[in-house]
Amino acid sequence: MGFEEFLGNQRIVSALRGMLRRDRVPSALLFTGPRGVGKFTLARMFAEAANCERLKDDFCGECAACEKIGRLANPVSLVERGLAERGESADAAAVERMPLIIETHPDVWLLIPDPVRLHTPVARPMIRVGQLRAVQRAAYFRPQGRRRVFILDGADTMRWTDADVFLKILEEPPECATLILLAPAPDSLLQTIRSRCLQFHFAPVPSGEIESFLESRTDLKPAEGKLAAQLSSGSPGVALSLDLKESARLRTSVLRLIEQSVSGEKYGDIFAATAQLAKQEKESFENVLGLFYSLLTDLLEVSESPKASLPRNPDLRREIESVGKKINWQWLLRATEGLDRLDSRLRRNIGRQLGLDAYVSSLSVR
Ligand SMILES: [Zn+2]
Repeated sequence: MGFEEFLGNQRIVSALRGMLRRDRVPSALLFTGPRGVGKFTLARMFAEAANCERLKDDFCGECAACEKIGRLANPVSLVERGLAERGESADAAAVERMPLIIETHPDVWLLIPDPVRLHTPVARPMIRVGQLRAVQRAAYFRPQGRRRVFILDGADTMRWTDADVFLKILEEPPECATLILLAPAPDSLLQTIRSRCLQFHFAPVPSGEIESFLESRTDLKPAEGKLAAQLSSGSPGVALSLDLKESARLRTSVLRLIEQSVSGEKYGDIFAATAQLAKQEKESFENVLGLFYSLLTDLLEVSESPKASLPRNPDLRREIESVGKKINWQWLLRATEGLDRLDSRLRRNIGRQLGLDAYVSSLSVR
């Protein structure tokens, strides 16, 4: 147990341990990097180390504090319980009055974008002002252990208009508390917030390291571990949670859709396929677009060099090569530009399927 279990980004681990060792911990840290790269895991480990009863710049994983904080490692059921306690009929006011706070040790709070869970469709999950106000009050309490740690996962979902609550905390930094903000990229947060945090950017973990990690932690066969590591784009968390069969199915159906449109198949058939994709529930639509990008990139690579390694879709080489024969460079350029436009339209909430239909029909080579 301890920081040695953390995979990748060792420079950040050493910096955090150095702060703990010297008792010089800033009141706000910002961890940025792709989903699954380890931001939350390292934040939780830091909270354990900051309160471990035996160690100062590491954590034993066994003392009472470590045991309690360590439960945050699997937050799904804790979040479910928190939502159940608040009740399914939570309305907007209740959501602010009873902020969703995950707490397994009195000094360590985890805040996630509140999914609200009303019976009717609601806005996207976000960090609510009620959650921020609760942090604002609690940040100045004396810790029972050594340090209060507030982990704000999805800090980028905070409304910009609520950011002043947060800024107030940072303007009068609490002595024994640290806020750790997690976000995909620095520019997803207001400059005023960003500039008050000590920033750490998490780089993708090399695929070979993820592969050996999977070998030691899971019962995946070596070839499956290698594929999962390659598909994870450097995120151990993604590699761990990847459903290889589902991933292959989804990527194959996106490639099939590209192929159908290239060969100018009937729109009726194509639209039936886009309808299937647009209502994917397991995958966010953003991920589906990511699959289009990854397949287009591999098509580009294979058209430039037949020996390209296709790191994004190594298992679909034969299928990609076959589509690659039917297209040229201009088509790829047009397809990529179209995808960029679709991506930005969807960000403005234009209907998924309409956008996808228009995009796919523009890909025909005829
Ligand atoms: Zn401990």
